[in-house]
Amino acid sequence: MTGAAAVMTTEEIRGDAPRGVTMEEIRAAFIDMIRIPSVTGSAGEEEACAYLEKLLSRHGIAGERIAKIPSRPNLLAVLRAGGGKDALESGGDNLPPMVLISHIDVVDGDPGKWTHPVFGAVSDAGRIWGRGTLDTKHLTMMELYAFLRLAEMRNRLSRDVYFLATIDEEGGSAYGMEYVKSVRPELFAGAYVINEGGGFPLHINGRDYMMLTVGEKAVCKVRIWAEGTGGHASAPGDDQAMLKLAEGLERIFASEAELNCGSRRTHDTMREIVGSDEWDNPVGADIYGYAGQNSIGMRNYQIGERSNVIPARAETVLEFRVLPYASEQEIAEYLGRQLAGLPVRYEIMSYEPGFESHFENSRLKEFIGSLNEACARRGFSGRVLPMLALGRTDGRFFGSEGSMVYGCSPLLMGDSFDVVLPKVHGCDESILEESFTFGCQVLCEVIEKNCLKEENQ
Ligand SMILES: [Zn+2]
Repeated sequence: MTGAAAVMTTEEIRGDAPRGVTMEEIRAAFIDMIRIPSVTGSAGEEEACAYLEKLLSRHGIAGERIAKIPSRPNLLAVLRAGGGKDALESGGDNLPPMVLISHIDVVDGDPGKWTHPVFGAVSDAGRIWGRGTLDTKHLTMMELYAFLRLAEMRNRLSRDVYFLATIDEEGGSAYGMEYVKSVRPELFAGAYVINEGGGFPLHINGRDYMMLTVGEKAVCKVRIWAEGTGGHASAPGDDQAMLKLAEGLERIFASEAELNCGSRRTHDTMREIVGSDEWDNPVGADIYGYAGQNSIGMRNYQIGERSNVIPARAETVLEFRVLPYASEQEIAEYLGRQLAGLPVRYEIMSYEPGFESHFENSRLKEFIGSLNEACARRGFSGRVLPMLALGRTDGRFFGSEGSMVYGCSPLLMGDSFDVVLPKVHGCDESILEESFTFGCQVLCEVIEKNCLKEENQ
């Protein structure tokens, strides 16, 4: 971990006195950030971190680098409730901290397949084009806009607010959020987190909705194998490892529907809000189905090494994606039932728990309420619809029972989920200019609503 400040010239340090943030400034910074090719593991990660550090310092806020190795820093900045600048701990009465997270590393792009340069941030047809415009530098800038606005009103903060931009999210987060958690565990206890993964609109059954992620599925990896008698391929015997494994797999996949564990609260809430089980938007229908069922996938398999030899062992790895709060034990029991009596063995290699925001506590309702209001005020008439994130994000390091991790970078209908999904990690990633402005304003309003005391209080 290093606490080194950004390398700045004396002029920059003396520079202008802190001033209020504007949309023009944030848009310009967004363009600059897209032009930094911060591909995971490249020098661009550090460059993007330094850029944000400098921007914060222009507003009088010192960022702290948190780095496993100095060339791959994450950036943390803090606003203390009550305006305390140097307080090490927040006052006793304050609410749990709000943590604004996003990742500033990006996946690479194939320039031959893009309409505009991958890191060009070209403005064309009302859109800004470039890697990171949706995953997730747009969110970084939306959060930063809100953070800098809050900085101007820090005397009214009801909770501490953290801005945390990480690297290595696309590489598994060992240098990013996982490392930050290992050295700053206090940030992760009971925090109120704004994350990536949601905020995309969808048109379902004649109405507009804004998807808000409120949880993530658990991922469990299981090695499963069978042994038999090996030998030359010219004389296959009855005792073949491959055939035994195949029978085991057939049973496991045939009974997938019996893997009936975990919470379906998000799924049920989705049905309630849309008012139907039949969704006419295919992407929406997939997202709805995903929140209601467990699935098993086969990652890879290892059967023999030479074409003329019957292998003595056949092995594969299954990946279970199960609903929040489905336990490792429940998966083990399911496997035990399916494989009973078969000469097939299994071993749980890893289990990463899922999570879901607490539906019984009022914070989710409050959050949805303030998001609905802010959207309506900015001309988006749809309703907020909760969902489970489609995969795992850095939010998993914050998720736990009763957690408050919301995936929310609000966008307009022109950047609906159907439009956005193929572009993330694909080509021609781009965001509508007006979506970006809308997202900055809406998220800022929601964050202010949840972090500021009423005036005159
Ligand atoms: Zn990504």
